Amino acid sequence: MNIKKFVKSGVYSLTAYQAKEIPCKVKLDANESPYGFKGFYNIVKNIETNRYPDPEAKKLKNIIAKEFLVKPENILQGNGSDELIYYLIATFGGPVLFPEPTFSMYGIIATALGEKTISIALDESFDLDIDQIIKRIKKEKPKLIFLSSPNNPTGNCFSSEKILKIIEETAQKSLVIIDEAYQPFSSKKGFMPLLSDYENLVIMRTLSKIGMAALRTGFLIANADIINQVNKVRLPFNLNSFSQAIACEVLKKKELPGKYINAICNERDRLFKNMIKIKGVEPYPSEANFILFKVEKPDIVYQSMLKNGVLVRNMNGVVKGCLRVTVGTPKENNIFLKELRKSILNTGA
Ligand SMILES: *Cc1c(COP(=O)(O)O)cnc(C)c1O
Repeated sequence: MNIKKFVKSGVYSLTAYQAKEIPCKVKLDANESPYGFKGFYNIVKNIETNRYPDPEAKKLKNIIAKEFLVKPENILQGNGSDELIYYLIATFGGPVLFPEPTFSMYGIIATALGEKTISIALDESFDLDIDQIIKRIKKEKPKLIFLSSPNNPTGNCFSSEKILKIIEETAQKSLVIIDEAYQPFSSKKGFMPLLSDYENLVIMRTLSKIGMAALRTGFLIANADIINQVNKVRLPFNLNSFSQAIACEVLKKKELPGKYINAICNERDRLFKNMIKIKGVEPYPSEANFILFKVEKPDIVYQSMLKNGVLVRNMNGVVKGCLRVTVGTPKENNIFLKELRKSILNTGA
């Protein structure tokens, strides 16, 4: 059978997202937290496995609402924020505009759904090229604009003035989604406080980077008109009972994630200071739980570190010469630093 004739052309053009499990001692490739949460036996033991989960995730939404000073009707729960990106594009359609390089799922999902994508290169300091963006907005009238800030994989926050300019320029015309997956690690304020000022502003958050990637839980926070439309597209039981129960338990004890986030930020700053001392390594300042860094021979350094058990993400195809390392425990970071020094020396990279 000629599969190409059956499948939608956008889907055919894609390659499946690579979430390969590469065996390694120190896993620093996926921006996960090195600190997880344990001991939920008492929480999950009474879950009735024969019953569907709460379709509205009411308890969890109430906790999130309090945390962010919004109402439950301003929140939509997702099976990870990936699913919410899918729902947003399914609900509003394209064109879908985003800077480049950024989180790959905006482009992948838009293409899978047959929507046009508009990607605009970041400037040399990895900030938004505001003139190009405004020009393309005027010309192509995107429905959705995705801005990951802090941005993955570059680690920086975009300038707030530029983001605000985009939100104001597109009032009544486009939704601007600020993907704040890494906001908990940032010294900048984030856009949550501005939600009530701008009707076209949508904030996306996730529990994945703060120690709960296994739960697949993310949130959209926006005005209720937007939430109500996206909710029509949401699959009825998208967040399972176990994730709902465990997320509630962890978030009720707020100091736990907070403590780990602080530890990760301190380690990030220590890691950066040590990386900058290595000749041939150029790390970029980060507001997230990872550091992008440039080396002369990225592919060789990547392979050589992996051979010694340290897995980072090779970003060479996305940002020339670059690898991305997730901040781990102090011990993991020390192993990473040692192996990085070694591989740079050995390969003459
Ligand atoms: C990791 C990541 C996500 C995905 O989050 P999930 O909630 O795990 O689906 C979303 N946006 C950015 C920018 C990310 O880096």
